[in-house]
Amino acid sequence: LQPTQMLLGRMVPIGLVLIALGAIAASVVSARVTRPVERLAGAADDIATGQYSRRADVEGPDEIARLGVAFNTMASQVERSHRDLEQRVEDRTRDLAQAMAQLTDAQEELVRKERLAMLGQLASGVGHELRNPLGVMTNAIYYLEMVQPDAPEDVREYLGILRHQIGLSEKIVTDLLDFARIKPPQVQTVSPASFIENQIARVGSVAELTIERRVPPDLPAVAIDPVQIGQVLLNLLTNASQAMEGGGVITVSARAQGDTVTIEVSDTGPGIAHELRDRIFEPLFTTKPRGIGLGLSVSRSLAEANGGRLDLVPGEGGAVFALTLPVAVAEPA
Ligand code: ADP
Repeated sequence: LQPTQMLLGRMVPIGLVLIALGAIAASVVSARVTRPVERLAGAADDIATGQYSRRADVEGPDEIARLGVAFNTMASQVERSHRDLEQRVEDRTRDLAQAMAQLTDAQEELVRKERLAMLGQLASGVGHELRNPLGVMTNAIYYLEMVQPDAPEDVREYLGILRHQIGLSEKIVTDLLDFARIKPPQVQTVSPASFIENQIARVGSVAELTIERRVPPDLPAVAIDPVQIGQVLLNLLTNASQAMEGGGVITVSARAQGDTVTIEVSDTGPGIAHELRDRIFEPLFTTKPRGIGLGLSVSRSLAEANGGRLDLVPGEGGAVFALTLPVAVAEPA
């Protein structure tokens, strides 16, 4: 048995070495196959969670590498179609939002027009009825002041108060009538400096109120209807004085800019809150207990009918309104 045992003794280590080599070879082969497959699976998982730019890192000449290349091509296509889809959804959402905004605007415009048509009828009726008694009262005050030149101080003070209050009521009546019907402007060539001075004179003297002018005398003439634009400027001045009940300073400045002249009316009042800035030009918007909220709406329409514009100038502090008017075209000599 000795030779057999010797053979067995030699065969056992050889067998063990062969088994070990077989195990190593199996693990190498399996690693070469499983690792790229794991990487592919990892990339697929990442793409499934939304990381569309992820690619599988597999190289080599074997089938798994080819599978990796095919996988990467597919991933690129998925990424591209996902991006296209996102773009389309974004475009459609934007179109939808635009359509929605247009619809809301159209609906608001319709409701506004309906309200305005009804209000126009009412406004012109009330306006006409009130204009005559107010005119009579103004004449009566004028007469009383004339026949009593030496009236005591308090009588003159009360007559002044009456005239001021009638002025405020006339503003309401004029707003109502202008709102009901804006007539075509009777355009004339007007010098801004004297025009501004005339409107300031209409405000009259109000206690605690100072009106400063910064109007260069050599501004180019403007082509406007002085009655309509006078109404706009008076409205801005009245609003400014009403905003400063305890007194303050109104500054009227003017400057030429290209083929326009801009008149700015600023005050030292509380200004206009940010959330109200878009609304003050809406008809019927008012924050005053006795206001009707037509002044700025009518003023803007009048400015536009005269080829100009009326804007609220953004900024902190008191309110600043800019009235832009077209410069008159010089007649050829
Ligand atoms: P009304 O004078 O009847 O209120 P307007 O259209 O002239 O109507 O003004 C609308 C609103 O705009 C006012 O109620 C007020 O809140 C605001 N406003 C206008 N001018 C000024 C100003 N100079 N300072 C502060 N608020 C102003």
